[in-house]
Amino acid sequence: MRRADPRRGLPSVDAVLKAARPAATERERFVNAARAVLAEARTTHESGNAEAFADRARALLAERERRTLLPVINATGVILQTNLGRAPLSERAIAAMVEAAGATSVEYDLVAGKRGERHGHAARMLADLAAAEDAVVVNNNAAAVLLALAALASRKEVIVARGELVEIGGGFRIPDVLRRSGAKLVEVGTTNRTYARDYASAIGERTGAILRVHASNFKLTGFVARAEGRELAALARERGVAYIHDLGSGTLLDTAAYGLGAEMTVAAAVGEGADVVTFSGDKLLGGPQAGLAVGRVTAIGALRSHPLMRALRPDKITIAALIATLASYRDDRATEELPVWRMIAAPSSDLAGRAGVIADKLSRAGVHAEVIETRSTVGGGSLPEETQPSYAVALSGAPATSLAARLRSAQPPVVARIIDERVALDLRSVLAEHDEELARAVAAALAKGGEDGPSEHSDGPRARAGRSV
Ligand SMILES: *Cc1c(COP(=O)(O)O)cnc(C)c1O
Repeated sequence: MRRADPRRGLPSVDAVLKAARPAATERERFVNAARAVLAEARTTHESGNAEAFADRARALLAERERRTLLPVINATGVILQTNLGRAPLSERAIAAMVEAAGATSVEYDLVAGKRGERHGHAARMLADLAAAEDAVVVNNNAAAVLLALAALASRKEVIVARGELVEIGGGFRIPDVLRRSGAKLVEVGTTNRTYARDYASAIGERTGAILRVHASNFKLTGFVARAEGRELAALARERGVAYIHDLGSGTLLDTAAYGLGAEMTVAAAVGEGADVVTFSGDKLLGGPQAGLAVGRVTAIGALRSHPLMRALRPDKITIAALIATLASYRDDRATEELPVWRMIAAPSSDLAGRAGVIADKLSRAGVHAEVIETRSTVGGGSLPEETQPSYAVALSGAPATSLAARLRSAQPPVVARIIDERVALDLRSVLAEHDEELARAVAAALAKGGEDGPSEHSDGPRARAGRSV
């Protein structure tokens, strides 16, 4: 243990421990906290006695033990908020996860009575829904892209259009993932225009694959051109290389039917002739975090048998939630059962009505609230710049940042959006069954405390403020 530092007048950890007398059960945690506050004092040249540092260590320990992973109400109007865990799961998926939590036949064949295939459970239904020959599931779409590149193009060249060398957010950059997979990037075309002939002239002996990446979070408009997926698939076939299409969000339903732009469906991407199409489980699919790869039997087989698969495989809880989510599509009940699609499909007149009821309740509780029209987004790297009409309850009576901070410390925490310097609760991303809880939490959070918001937790919200897809 570190001795007292006579030059700085800092107490030793032992002295702080003596002053604090932590219970035996928290001694280790307390020692770590005491070391941390003393180390900080050393760098800031502060001093103090053992009692003062005991108090600081206590406060730090309490802060470290504050619960940070909490269920929240997403009133941002962004349906797929990566910071808020993307797709909320259906009741059917949640029940399946609970059921799978115990002993489960995840790798056991109950008919044969011997070791079974983890990858079989969701694969058939997924392949059928995607109109593909075969399918495999990994932990997230980044892993699916990595695995596809490693299995089909390791040590080979992969051709990507310059306009598709994108960063998705959270550090996922296509050129970096390519490098990590062991493939070598070959860029073709220009930022705004790339033709099939650009790919054709780049294909050589060392080429392993053509990779197409969906522009998830930006839109290229103006003087632009890109090769058709069909052309790329035909070219890849003819020259004996793989065609991999990273679809990003990946939808099984037609987004254009809900007043949004058209997003290519997974089945359409497969229909173009791709060897592998990859997409996320927790974006427009509306399921758990997972990476789904669908496509031709030989290509998917290569992914499944690659050594990386063992490191990227999903757990039984994810598999259970995914199967239940896919079953909603199979039973043609996606827009009734999956929260993401219920939110997308909600008529804006319904949202207006719900906003009115919540605003009334809040007004009666003494909160300044009024209904406003907004535009909501799907988010999660899908449909960039596409919005839907929505309604929100705008709150006033105190500065927006202070109201927003108080909402974040509500029970449950409410994450709102700020429109024209006013805090707004956008109902597009809230399920109707949570309205009452939302109204109650907001009323309680804004009725209590002064105008300045909570004094504790002052750095939590800032850490959570960033946005990504
Ligand atoms: C979101 C996205 C990814 C990453 O998917 P995760 O499931 O978050 O790993 C990869 N590619 C594209 C095009 C995306 O939109």
